[in-house]
Amino acid sequence: ASQKDDDMIINPRMPHFDYSPPPYNGPSADEILSKRKEFLSPSMFYFYEKNPLHLVHGKMQYLFDSNGRRYLDAFGGIATVSCGHCHPDVVEAIVNQTKRLQHSTILYLNNAITDFAEALASKLPGDLKVVFFTNSGTEANELAIMMARLYTGCHDIISLRNAYHGNAAATMSTTGQSVWKFNVVQSGVHHAINPDPYRGVFGSDGEKYAKDVEDLILFGTSGRVAAFMSEAIQGVGGIVELAPGYLPAAYSAVRKAGGLCIADEVQSGFARTGSHFWGFENQGVVPDIVTMAKGIGNGIPLGAVVTTPEIAEVLCHSNYFNTFGGNPVCTSAGLAVLRVIEKENLQENAHVVGSYLKERLMAIKNKHEIVGDVRGRGLLLGVELVTDRKLKTPAKAETLHIMDKMKEMGVLVGKGGFRGNVFRITPPLCFTKEDADFVADVMDCAMSKI
Ligand code: PLP
Repeated sequence: ASQKDDDMIINPRMPHFDYSPPPYNGPSADEILSKRKEFLSPSMFYFYEKNPLHLVHGKMQYLFDSNGRRYLDAFGGIATVSCGHCHPDVVEAIVNQTKRLQHSTILYLNNAITDFAEALASKLPGDLKVVFFTNSGTEANELAIMMARLYTGCHDIISLRNAYHGNAAATMSTTGQSVWKFNVVQSGVHHAINPDPYRGVFGSDGEKYAKDVEDLILFGTSGRVAAFMSEAIQGVGGIVELAPGYLPAAYSAVRKAGGLCIADEVQSGFARTGSHFWGFENQGVVPDIVTMAKGIGNGIPLGAVVTTPEIAEVLCHSNYFNTFGGNPVCTSAGLAVLRVIEKENLQENAHVVGSYLKERLMAIKNKHEIVGDVRGRGLLLGVELVTDRKLKTPAKAETLHIMDKMKEMGVLVGKGGFRGNVFRITPPLCFTKEDADFVADVMDCAMSKI
């Protein structure tokens, strides 16, 4: 667009929100940035290289910078802030528990831990009712993989290309993207063809992709495997919803080979997909082990593995222990999150607002050639940008540019996908229709300006 056209476009107005944060008197963004460069790992990366955001306050779906400027948070701390920033019920639960007892390990009895474990188990189908608490998604997945290996006596794991499962030994191995891997020993994992309806060779035919799982078992293993691990909607991989029919067929192939099925619900769990509480339910399967983190604690470090009593037995053969796993402050936050999701009907809201936002994004795709694909479910949505729709050439530079423009207009979205050309829209589940309109209007406007 020319400068003249640019001037004609009026920036959309942010929805009204009756809250102003207290003034900020702390160190400046420049001071923080220079300390960060000096004292934090040089490999740290951050959005907005030019003017990194200096966030000092959060309230529900909004974030505030040090100048008191408000941003609509459509990324939710990477699909983590499920109820809303500093949700009063979650804050209250954390404060109350912190005053009573800040730390006790699972060596002692404490109802903050057992109450949450019981509530969590009640959200899962079948016999999935034994809970192990961890501090992160990586730890949860590491534990799940170890349990599957112990239970089956096999080592081989099948995971998906384009998956992200974490960054420790076993989880980095199951992760299927070179950009998230280091050159360290990664053993016993076979990556199946990704059932990606947009870029995959078999389009939306889930059963055809699942044939590759069978082939990997036949040609890459002894014929027996420990487990199959996958997300239902790949988050870091760019919000790729697995082709319909994939999980039932893949699970069946893996179970025939004696393997367990592990559902990584770190991003797709906790009501985010709207239609169901767990992402795997969208494909009608019941896993043997479910892992979770992110949204479970609304931003408090907390993860969990839930499995059946029979599988959980394997950890009795030695000592499995985690000092902070099941910290009562974290589990109190987790229980408050579950109650808020129910009390405020957030699953239904994710469905209604997410479906509405997806429609608005589809309309943007019809208007702007740069949008190659709009996908996802509930409030786990992706917008993939390409410079050529036929060739699906990733529009990486444009993605960054549009994201920057959106920030200037007050909307924060995430960026991801293996090629760095997908907007990830994963806001707190309290997002409203007006918020959805604002995100869509701002994206439309930013795209009109490139
Ligand atoms: N699994 C999935 C699906 C994730 O998206 C992530 C993180 O982004 C992880 C596992 C790892 O979680 P954490 O960063 O808490 O270790």
